[in-house]
Amino acid sequence: MTRAVWRAGAAALALLAGSAAGGEGPAQVDHARLLHADAEPGQWMAPGRTYDEQRFSPLAQINAGNVQRLGLAWYADINTERGMEASPLAIDGVLYNVQPWNLVTAYDGKTGKVLWTYDPEVPLRFGRLACCDIVSRGLAAWKGKIYVATLGGRLIALDAATGKPVWSVLTVDNSKSYTITGAPRVFDGKVLIGNGGAEMGVRGYVTAYDAETGRQIWRWHTVPGNPAAGFESAAMELAAKTWTGEWWTAGGGGTVWDSVSYDPALNLVYVGVGNGSPWARDWRSAGGGDNLFLASIVALDADTGDYRWHYQTTPGEEWDYTATQQMILADLQIGGRTRKVLMQAPKNGFFYVLDRETGELISAEMFAPINWASGIDKATGRPIENPAVRYGTTPVLVSPGAGGAHNWNPMAYSPLTHLVYLPVTETYMGYAKAESFDPAKGGLGTSFTGFEAERDAITRYADAHSRGWLSAWDPVRQREAWRVPSPQKGSGGVLATAGNLVFEGTIGQTFAAYRADTGEKLWEMPVQQVPIAAPITYTVDGEQYIAVNAGWGGGLAHVERSAYTQLFLSKPRLLVFKLGGTAKLPPMPAASMQVPELSPPPAPNGTAEQVSRGEQLYAANCALCHGVAARGGVKDLRHMAPETHEAFLDIVLRGARARNGMASFADVLTPAEAEAIHHYLIARANADWDSR
Ligand code: CA
Repeated sequence: MTRAVWRAGAAALALLAGSAAGGEGPAQVDHARLLHADAEPGQWMAPGRTYDEQRFSPLAQINAGNVQRLGLAWYADINTERGMEASPLAIDGVLYNVQPWNLVTAYDGKTGKVLWTYDPEVPLRFGRLACCDIVSRGLAAWKGKIYVATLGGRLIALDAATGKPVWSVLTVDNSKSYTITGAPRVFDGKVLIGNGGAEMGVRGYVTAYDAETGRQIWRWHTVPGNPAAGFESAAMELAAKTWTGEWWTAGGGGTVWDSVSYDPALNLVYVGVGNGSPWARDWRSAGGGDNLFLASIVALDADTGDYRWHYQTTPGEEWDYTATQQMILADLQIGGRTRKVLMQAPKNGFFYVLDRETGELISAEMFAPINWASGIDKATGRPIENPAVRYGTTPVLVSPGAGGAHNWNPMAYSPLTHLVYLPVTETYMGYAKAESFDPAKGGLGTSFTGFEAERDAITRYADAHSRGWLSAWDPVRQREAWRVPSPQKGSGGVLATAGNLVFEGTIGQTFAAYRADTGEKLWEMPVQQVPIAAPITYTVDGEQYIAVNAGWGGGLAHVERSAYTQLFLSKPRLLVFKLGGTAKLPPMPAASMQVPELSPPPAPNGTAEQVSRGEQLYAANCALCHGVAARGGVKDLRHMAPETHEAFLDIVLRGARARNGMASFADVLTPAEAEAIHHYLIARANADWDSR
């Protein structure tokens, strides 16, 4: 089909829906077009393509019979050293993409020509607040506007023709540690955005704004605030009964940092709620409790934001078990009848199928080996929890770890194979309750220091047993149909198409296509990068393209040990493929193909007291990005170059590397404290030098 036919189809549908086709110019996405998105398979108009977030494309020009001829059509270099987590939008032949620091670029979808770029100039200080990289997971479109949410908490509407801001609204209190990494979602004239920061003591909520003006329409908090201040909703009064102590002083968490889905027929919007803040429940809700609506899937009235139902995946969670992961809506044949379901595979390792009208649990089974629970009690819907994983100050080994059995990397559902495709990881982590916690200072309340021997044993076990695979999951039978193992965890998000294909970027620095029905690998291309984002597909002038952002980074690169420092990576790129594509990536720079030469660390120079103080300060301020005990992370600080040692105080206190995400800590660390951290890092570098 030609583009003219797509346009005619869109116009006809708009007439059917009783509305005009909308304004002039690009990205004229409206409710009628999104409702009938399958009539325009060449478009990718929303983060998950459709309101139901299936990430399935009806396009079949590229298919299992010809995917061997897939080649690069064009590529665009992305000027960043950080992770690329976004799926672009593709609307009427234009690709809209977003990268770290929320730079938005519009490309001609056929040629890659840049049409415009917009830089929201996010203040670099926000880099320090992002637990898991300064990423952005996508954009939304509505009636000639492209919406981007910034790391600093702004929601900005851009003119899709020019990239110029139309309106901008601050959605968070910048005196608190909020960040936004998720994609906005637009439905029926409203644009919805959540936020992140549940590692930093914030209280989660989502807000709906008028897509035309930016005026706030409704806001829904996910966890209760101080009862003395009055509850914002009946739902918060209900939730408060499940918290104990003075939980509000520590924020509570429950941020909606990624997934939102929408059912226009039921007029419900589904939000996925994150982990508690702080992590350790003892420090958050001293007398225990389920702590609603942490780790829950919540259905809200799309017009008012009023609570309709919830399902809590992990009551009283304290392992960073977010339920923010993707929620796919589909109609499945279960028990001889059609059920309107919502499917989620959250971090905790259970694949949930819920009735999306009522929130009733239909089924839940493990999709990865885990030890925190042995199953879900179908009568109560509650997990059968392993009591040994509740932690005090003695560390316990828990599976999955905070990275989750499945994280933000998108999954896809094919209505042709009736399978869900998702990247799965087997992970382990040691958790212990911190000896002390001060809500005014924040932090996790969970400790990774002071139990060296146990931690080393746990780390060794976790390293030895950690792995990943691409899983095809049958949601009706609740069992795996096939899997493709990968050499280590870290592969990317998924796209499924009517061409009987599943596409995924791999930790082996390739982009690959598999048969959707059997998992047979049909095509693979080295791409000099790890595409952790999910691909999309679209057409221009009747020709099908596959697009994926390829840029290693994100949470796994932040917190894991340095197994990944051996990846030889080019700069991130947007890669676009088509049948018979002949574009070639430039060769990797020789310097990036070598294991970097390590400089021996300076001689230990701090007193035992300084090193010990530095260790505590490191754990509180640095470990989230630079790894527990300075192992790995976004930069392995055991391997600082001489000039980095020289510039240490400039970097830590004066923001010398803020553009890379390393903002100044001058407001929380004194020069003596920064020096103590430096002494600690030198001690760590010397301790580990022989085993480098
Ligand atoms: Ca978290």
